[in-house]
Amino acid sequence: MHLRCLALNASYEPLTMVPVRRALRLVIDGKAEIVEADRGRLVRSQTVAVPRPAVIRLVRFVHVPRRFRRQVTNTFLFARDGYRCLFCGRPGAQLRHRECLTRDHLIPLSRGGTNEWTNVVTACSSCNTRKGNRPPEECGMPPLQPPVEPHFVHLTWAVRRLTPVQAKYIQLFYGADTLETLQGL
Ligand SMILES: [Zn+2]
Repeated sequence: MHLRCLALNASYEPLTMVPVRRALRLVIDGKAEIVEADRGRLVRSQTVAVPRPAVIRLVRFVHVPRRFRRQVTNTFLFARDGYRCLFCGRPGAQLRHRECLTRDHLIPLSRGGTNEWTNVVTACSSCNTRKGNRPPEECGMPPLQPPVEPHFVHLTWAVRRLTPVQAKYIQLFYGADTLETLQGL
């Protein structure tokens, strides 16, 4: 079920989610190509019927300000890490009452760490508290896997697991300017 379509830049970088109708319009106008589609579901315009696009790619590169590209929302962070704590390995569903998934900075912000993909991991609130303001070497808590910037395929997969309510946050992932750029296409 793809209520919305993930729009990729010409470079395959994920940009935003767009309504299927808008995605279709971009494809029909030759401004985007379909990367993935629901083959079982056709969408009809006045002249053509095409598989409902799940992922489209813009034909022309749209410049995205760096600050938007580097923003990591918890929605995508948790999806990248499979909705589990990267220290104790417990999935969100197994957390106890009052526990929750949080964002942990491997190198704490107070020690010069950043919010980039390679420095943030999903942590349950208990592990986050236990780790405190220390880098992994100091507290003996290495993450189960090293955090990397996700490939668009992984994000696409993550996006497919999102509920419509969560998908709203995808629109915020790269900021309003990018959305405006897309809407101006
Ligand atoms: Zn944990």
